Amino acid sequence: MSEKSPRLRAELDGIPTYKPGRPAAAGGPVAYKLSSNENPYPPLQGVLESAVAAAGNFNRYPDMACTGLVNEIAERFGVPVEHVATGTGSVGVAQSLIQSTAGPGDEVMYAWRSFEAYPIIAQISGATSVQVPLTEGDVHDLDAMAEAITERTRLIFVCNPNNPTGTAVRRAELERFLDRVPSDVLVVLDEAYREFVRDADVPDGIELYRSRPNVAVLRTFSKAYGLAGLRVGFAVAHEPVAAALRKTAVPFGVSQLAQDAAVASLRAEDELLGRVGSLVCERNRVHETLLAQGWTVPDTQANFVWLRLGERTAEFAAACEKAGVVVRPFAGEGLRVTIGETEANDLFLHTAGAFF
Ligand code: PMP
Repeated sequence: MSEKSPRLRAELDGIPTYKPGRPAAAGGPVAYKLSSNENPYPPLQGVLESAVAAAGNFNRYPDMACTGLVNEIAERFGVPVEHVATGTGSVGVAQSLIQSTAGPGDEVMYAWRSFEAYPIIAQISGATSVQVPLTEGDVHDLDAMAEAITERTRLIFVCNPNNPTGTAVRRAELERFLDRVPSDVLVVLDEAYREFVRDADVPDGIELYRSRPNVAVLRTFSKAYGLAGLRVGFAVAHEPVAAALRKTAVPFGVSQLAQDAAVASLRAEDELLGRVGSLVCERNRVHETLLAQGWTVPDTQANFVWLRLGERTAEFAAACEKAGVVVRPFAGEGLRVTIGETEANDLFLHTAGAFF
């Protein structure tokens, strides 16, 4: 018998594993998890009931085409059903987008720092990542991104608002950028945090997609809708991109629980968006308090704030944890802190005030 291991693709060497935000320490003092940009509110009763009802059938495969959910999304956003493609979280849809557009020798571009999954899913496809640094103000440098486009560029992510900085690009600059992108390059507007945007100059990607066949918009039920644990996201894109997504998606990748809970969430949108409004108030309070404490914090349009702490990052993360708040450190760069329940935010602010 051969002693050799199975041969794996060489491109997998050196791909880091996606690192989830740390959970709150079990058995610790008060431990709030502000490390994964989750929604702190528990599921709505009606949403829970729809999931429980679906659970009674989990000996069956789900509806692979997500028919009810796709119809509901298409109606809610005023787009054709053929332009909606669902997936296992929006990260699953993002992975399908890369698999559909870029392979070895092709380039996938995004700002850096941005969502940690982009380099991983690009590398899994064998594509080359092109990372364009954010400006000093931690905003997308769209001019530099336009200049970095080459013959090999296949897909560009614009994370708007950006994770982990919370900063957002505005309509005029985004439209100017889109005008400069060749029509055979796909631009993915990752709007995982769209519902938290309050700056009226930040465009709704779904409006931009309507007149631009090379623009796809990514949305998720994980954040504003509070279904992170159910794994459901979607893209709105023209044909043939949406058709390619349906082809490359993991078969049955969205459970019936997730589909039914997502439909129920869209139907309960008023109540859920009311909660988002409260989180936005909390976000503004946290942001203003940090500024008053003397911190430099970029304007955030998402459900988190970004503190560029450099070498003090690990020390501050440890201080937060000691106080009972788990945050998300990016070694040597900074700290991302999700807006949670008021007590958690207060605990964090208290720690930040003492640390400054
Ligand atoms: N895009 C961005 C910008 C994110 O921050 C996240 C989650 N952290 C996702 C996509 C993926 O979310 P999900 O897979 O839960 O839809």
